[in-house]
Amino acid sequence: MTDRPTLRRWLSWIEGLIPAKLRRDPVTRRRSLLALGILGANTLVGTALLVPLSLIRQPDLRAIALTNTGGCLLLMLLGVLFLRRGSLWLAGNWICGILYAGFVYAILRGGGVRAPFAICLALLPILAGIISGRRSGLAWGFISVATITGCYVAQAGGVELPDLNDPDTTVMLAFGALAGTSILVTWMTSFSEATKEAAIVQIEQASAQLASAIQEEEKARHAADQAIAANAAKSAFLATMSHELRTPLNAILGYSELVVDELRDRGGHDDLIDDIRKVHASGRHLLGLITDVLDLTRIEASRLELSPTEFEPAKLLREVAEIFIPLALRNNDVLTLDLADDIGEVHHDATRVRQVVINLVGNAIKFTRDGTVTVRLRGDPDLFEIFVEDTGIGIPIDKIERIFEPFTQVDASSTRRYEGTGLGLAVCRRLVSLMGGAIEVRSSVGRGSSFTVRLPRRYTIPERPVSVTTSAF
Ligand code: ADP
Repeated sequence: MTDRPTLRRWLSWIEGLIPAKLRRDPVTRRRSLLALGILGANTLVGTALLVPLSLIRQPDLRAIALTNTGGCLLLMLLGVLFLRRGSLWLAGNWICGILYAGFVYAILRGGGVRAPFAICLALLPILAGIISGRRSGLAWGFISVATITGCYVAQAGGVELPDLNDPDTTVMLAFGALAGTSILVTWMTSFSEATKEAAIVQIEQASAQLASAIQEEEKARHAADQAIAANAAKSAFLATMSHELRTPLNAILGYSELVVDELRDRGGHDDLIDDIRKVHASGRHLLGLITDVLDLTRIEASRLELSPTEFEPAKLLREVAEIFIPLALRNNDVLTLDLADDIGEVHHDATRVRQVVINLVGNAIKFTRDGTVTVRLRGDPDLFEIFVEDTGIGIPIDKIERIFEPFTQVDASSTRRYEGTGLGLAVCRRLVSLMGGAIEVRSSVGRGSSFTVRLPRRYTIPERPVSVTTSAF
């Protein structure tokens, strides 16, 4: 008896004959296995048949029978080649064609419709149908019926077909043909049923998966609708709240400035002036925060509209640098400008470009002590780039991805040294993206950071948001 590993080796060797293309789907894989099975079974049966055929007494007949059977066997094995080339259609029809030639020869030489092998024609439509498909099955059914009908009509019309079979072997051949045909028909029917059942199970599984996928999609769409509605409600709430907060806050700022002026005029109230100045500074900080939140909300709700105009970025950068000179001096930083003089005018929302630059330069000075902050401007016919470089504390590589997320700071501890809200870069990234550009950051802890804003020279509505890319020095 064959032990299991040997059997498995044989099976995997047989499977190896089937090309990958036919192995991918279970139905074609099974059909290919059947084609190989038929070829194998025919080779075995045919080879076994050579034994009784070699016992035929008449030498002429024996030679014809052996040549016919052996030739058919060899030609049929060519079916493996067609299978290897991936054509089940050709393999199935080839096998049927060779079998047909063999059977017709045996029928014409064995007494026509009385021949023991006539029954074997019934195998062809089943074989072709399973291996090569329904159309081939129908075609071979037609050919088989037409052949046997032709024989009958000819014989009924008086045509004498020779019966060369040895009377001693006729019964054995008839038995062999009937038994073999019955076994093959049973095998192939059960195979085709099994394939059909497997296909039905697959279809059922696929439709169950489809139903659950549709349900999931429905749920996801519902959740997305809810999220959109919640987001819209949040944006509307924040926009209203920001407005409501800014009005009294502006009053606080205005009045605190008035009180400082008043106290200064009266003289002798230095302590009070200091306190009111702190109120004013806190108020400004809060106003900045509210403005950032409002910007972020407007951008997310697609309610922020840009007003592009022609302006000179070099002029804008010079103005921003002037604003920051006192802060740079306080931190003992050198603020330098390196502006290419061939950039000329660009077409963008100057207020928003200024807002981005103010954020970046403000951060660069805030995170740099006793160092250098350089604002650089470069461009080509299509783009212009603003670089803000510092020699400050730098950003760790594992945090660099997150600094553009709202409310994210590298040092978020309660004892942190630097003020801020963690909103500035989030707003910058969204603004730049809205303007059709991108922000890039390169940084190294202890050596400094370099932010690059790359924008097209003319504003056009971006088709999709441009993502932020980050990398280490
Ligand atoms: P914040 O108001 O806290 O500055 P931002 O969104 O502008 O908020 O920046 C987020 C964080 O990114 C900052 O808290 C800081 O940790 C880091 N960061 C931004 N710019 C720099 C820089 N030039 N050098 C070092 N760290 C920076």
